[in-house]
Amino acid sequence: MKILVTGGCGFIGSNYVIRQVIKRRNKVLNIDSLTYAGNIENLSILNDNVNYTFVHGDISDIKCLNKAFRDFNPDVVVHFAAESHVDRSIDDPLIFVKTNLVGTATLLQASLEHWKNTKNNFRFIHVSTDEVFGSINDKSLFTESTPYNPSSPYSASKAGSDFLVKAWQKTYNLPAIVTNCSNNYGPYQFPEKLIPLIIINCLNERPLPIYGNGKNIRDWLFVDDHCTALDIIIENGKIGETYNFGGNNQTSNIDIVNKICEILDEKKPLKSSKSYKALITYVKDRPGHDFKYAIDTSKMKNDFNWKPKEDLESGIRKTINWYLKNEKWWRKIQKKIYHQERLGLEN
Ligand code: NAD
Repeated sequence: MKILVTGGCGFIGSNYVIRQVIKRRNKVLNIDSLTYAGNIENLSILNDNVNYTFVHGDISDIKCLNKAFRDFNPDVVVHFAAESHVDRSIDDPLIFVKTNLVGTATLLQASLEHWKNTKNNFRFIHVSTDEVFGSINDKSLFTESTPYNPSSPYSASKAGSDFLVKAWQKTYNLPAIVTNCSNNYGPYQFPEKLIPLIIINCLNERPLPIYGNGKNIRDWLFVDDHCTALDIIIENGKIGETYNFGGNNQTSNIDIVNKICEILDEKKPLKSSKSYKALITYVKDRPGHDFKYAIDTSKMKNDFNWKPKEDLESGIRKTINWYLKNEKWWRKIQKKIYHQERLGLEN
């Protein structure tokens, strides 16, 4: 299979591309504009692999996209490229509108042109988020038919991008599918997001910033489980449908942070013999901070018998092990990009 991936140098994209080329022996062309979140070194393991091609390009550039489609003739597009950090969207919303809306519309146009010309068994898979549903305050779960109610410029731009994909599907019959996934974690996650931020701050013995009272709840999914779900949808998903992916484990931010501290207390105890929990610091809450996201995964379970392999304990352990082994990776990012004041921000 030939897969055109956008945003393959980001967190989920890197995990997905490595899996496709190495494990599944598919051909991948990766278009990435290498924003602050894109790291070409994530995929250096594929540098000499004939099944992997990198194009340094922007999804808003129709010429670049048309050329990539002509040269590569993909069977599938998996669209990860996005501006993805809620706090950055509050500070600088327009780049989110440009990439997530204009970029997605441009990619849809290029995909449509390609599909009309080749008429092959083409599929467009749009990777979106559960944040489009807004916040819940009770025990209910987001299903595929929950109305959209986004809160931040990030989630509003992703909601808009989902609607664009649905419109291209309904209006032009583009064979497209939308997936909405809960919070991911795992290897290669940029250290501004909660889990890598907390691991790295522990290892640097810096404060562990928690928004508000730390009670906000997210449904965490290990990144490999997300990649497996995407493969199922590419092979068996129904055109025009939406699928929710989630980890079936709603956990508060403070519980996640405590878990990371406990595992690190065991794996890499502080010299002072104090717990890493002593570094926890509560900071002013994010404006418009959604209280809770929780995904109902029964459609994926009933239709495809999919469920996440990792639970929070095993997934967090794997993630901590990766960050312990790959200190060079995150130290380089910290040196190059980090504005220290941003270290206090989470997703
Ligand atoms: P990320 O920020 O780590 O990576 C985004 C990638 O897209 C980067 O490599 C960046 O360089 C690239 N990119 C940005 N703008 C681009 C443009 N205009 N043209 C080409 N490339 C561009 O993001 P992520 O966490 O890997 O998320 C990937 C996708 O999954 C996003 O669409 C996000 O909304 C969605 N998602 C993420 C999560 C999560 O928890 N991380 C959860 C659900 C859905």
